[in-house]
Formats: sequence, structure tokens, C-alpha cells
Amino acid sequence: MPEEKLLEVKNLTISFHTFAGDVSAVRNVDFDLRPGEVIAIVGESGSGKSVSTQAILGLTPIPPGEIKSGEILFKGENLLACSAKRLSEVSGSRISMIFQDPMTSLNPTMKVGNQIREILHQHARMTRGQSAERAMELMNLVGIPEPKVRLGQYPHEFSGGMRQRAMIAMAMANRPEVLIADEPTTALDVTIQSQIFRLLRELQRDFHTAIILITHDLGVVAGMADRIVVMYAGKVMEEGTTDQVYYRPHHPYTAGLLQAVPSLADDARKKLRTIEGTPPFLLHVPAGCPFAERCEYSMRICKEKEPPYFHPEAGNRVFCWLYDDGASAQRARFDAREVAQ
Ligand code: SF4
Repeated sequence: MPEEKLLEVKNLTISFHTFAGDVSAVRNVDFDLRPGEVIAIVGESGSGKSVSTQAILGLTPIPPGEIKSGEILFKGENLLACSAKRLSEVSGSRISMIFQDPMTSLNPTMKVGNQIREILHQHARMTRGQSAERAMELMNLVGIPEPKVRLGQYPHEFSGGMRQRAMIAMAMANRPEVLIADEPTTALDVTIQSQIFRLLRELQRDFHTAIILITHDLGVVAGMADRIVVMYAGKVMEEGTTDQVYYRPHHPYTAGLLQAVPSLADDARKKLRTIEGTPPFLLHVPAGCPFAERCEYSMRICKEKEPPYFHPEAGNRVFCWLYDDGASAQRARFDAREVAQ
């Protein structure tokens, strides 16, 4: 894996001003992405995963949003400080995004072929003939059959899976270096879901496109991501390689998410465990660890003071007091949890 960083999100803090007060949606978030790498950002709704990534493309609605601190460096250039013109150059050609609902990106009144060609004209100077040919290539690339016919159709003539493929074709039109996929398969059935993930993986492999995959479902990222960032209540709770997060989760929240993932090996009678309680309301961020009210390993310090990041193993960081030397007894309970269950 190359060591240079393509994208770095540093100390990002975003609030939303509401009549009731400021909602702290994202707090001191850091993560990075290397060329050709796939990272998954996983968390429940309201964890800050989409808000953090929308900021990369300048999609934070300001107001009511406010970026209180941080930098987003793309190849060393701070996207939070650059002009709207520069951001639009980067976002159309170097960084693309696909959304959960393709209809939010596809124009229902315009033929799909024209929408793809429009992107090609905006960011790569192409003649009509060149863009028509490239649109066909893109349709083939994302596995849309009969591309010539499909290019002349409107989005409502496509199935949900085909619409998502068309949106991926649009996002890949300018061979971006980063593709952000925000819950790209949530609205699709399981078979189509796995086809879309396979397609994203192929694009990453063939074009060395780095991907940020945002999902609430830890179960879908195993075969896809190189690294996983787990978010909760606007903070990164844990980050590690996919193997570390799946096989040796260090944070009680990650362990709880994993227990809620069904597996084919599970006994059909075995009940999936859920994490009791609800995330804190970010209008009033609690002191200490935001997971404390739901954590069965919570200690007194957890409700008084935010933990620092600990590094239980190389390549992993965890926002949890269990890794402090003074918490060894509670830590032993956490480590023994699978034996007890
Ligand atoms: Fe649980 Fe405390 Fe760790 Fe938070 S810091 S996850 S409350 S043990």
C-alpha cells in the first residue's frame, strides 16, 4: 500500500445552528485515504459519517451549518480554504460522489445519455462525437446492457439497480481519483447490492480509484474495504484495518455493531444482539465518552472525561478508557466477552 496520502481530513468540527441551539454533528474528526485504497466509514444515522464526507465536496449547507475547525487536504490543497470555482473543478473531475437515491442526482426530465455527456463536456473538452463514444464506453463499464438504447432513455425507464449503475457511470466519467459512495445500496435488494459492490471493487482495481464507502451496515463492508472508521455521535470511535475491526474489535461500540450482524454460520435460533439505548442528542453533548450511557463496561471516568485515542495494536486507534493502564480489570471483562456469551 503506498504511503502518501491522497486525502486527509484533519480535526474537522461541524455544527448546525438550530432554534434550540447548536448541534455538534462532527467533532474533531480525522481520517485519511491513500491512492487506490477503500475505506468504509460506518455508523448509525446521526453519527456524523455523511456530514463529514459531504464537507469534502463543499456540500455542507452554510448556514445552518458551520465548519468550526479543521482542514480537508486533497493532495496537500486545503479544500475548505479554496474558492468555489476551484472546488467545483476538483469535485467534478478529481473527487466524485454517488448517493443512496440515484434520483437525487439524475435529472428525471433528461435522457441518461445527455446527462453523462453533459458531465463530459463540463470537465473534459470533448466533441459531440467523442462524448457520445465515451458515454457508450461508460455504460459498458458499469454493465448496463444495450447501452445504445439505454442512453436514449429517461431515468424512470431504468430499474433501481440500473439507475445506480448509471449514477456510477456519471461519477466515473472523468476518472476521478476519489469516489465517495454514500449508502449506495441501501435502497436496493440484496442481489443487486452485491452486484453494485462488485462493480465498485472492479472500478477500484481497474482504475486505481480510491473509495470512501459510507454505510450504517458493518456487515456489507467486509469484502470491500481495506480500512474501517467507526463513528458514533460525531466522533471516530475506532479505526483499523478490516481484519482488526472484524476479528479483534477494541471498542465496545464496534463489538456491539458486530454482534448485530447476521452471519450464514449463525444458528437460525440464535438471536442477534442489539445495542440497548439510543445515541445522545448532540444539542447537549455529554461530558466524557458519548457511548457511556449504552456501554456495559462503563466506568466512573467514562462519564467525566473524554478518553484520548489509544493504540492497542499497530494501525489501530480506539477512543476508549479501557486501554488506560488503570482499567485493566474492566478491560479483562471486555476481552473475555465472547467466552461469556
Ligand atoms: Fe465504554 Fe468507557 Fe470505553 Fe466509553 S470509554 S466505550 S463508556 S469503556
